[in-house]
Amino acid sequence: MTETRAEAPRTPQPVMGLYDTMMWQTIRDGALQLQHCESCGTTLYPPAPVCPHCLSDKLEWRAVSGRGTVLSWVVFHKSYLDAYPAPYNVIAVRLDEGAVIVSNLEPPLPDAGSWIGRKVKMIYKTMPDGLVLPKFVLDTDGGA
Ligand SMILES: [Zn+2]
Repeated sequence: MTETRAEAPRTPQPVMGLYDTMMWQTIRDGALQLQHCESCGTTLYPPAPVCPHCLSDKLEWRAVSGRGTVLSWVVFHKSYLDAYPAPYNVIAVRLDEGAVIVSNLEPPLPDAGSWIGRKVKMIYKTMPDGLVLPKFVLDTDGGA
């Protein structure tokens, strides 16, 4: 426990709730699945025992397209975690399926203006310590 390491900082690990294991397995497999409510069509994120919209428990895991739109963004110029040296960004993305995911936009970044409304697509990035995280890149072939 006291060995000295010159490795990359450890990525903060997911906090596993009761319903998160399946989702993180699909992330490791490179094809995110989220629960889909069979009753009202809501796509759930985070995973839950029932639909937060209609309370149905008729939920089915389905692959998401990975495509979405930036709802909000910020660039941090101060480091808070060793694994995320400044400057780094955080984006909120509304997936085409409706769920909102908070993640990071990988380079190349937009060179000017607001990122809100930009089309993005999900990629799966293996962090230096092996953890796979869903990230986003600009969707240059998905229209303006
Ligand atoms: Zn529902």
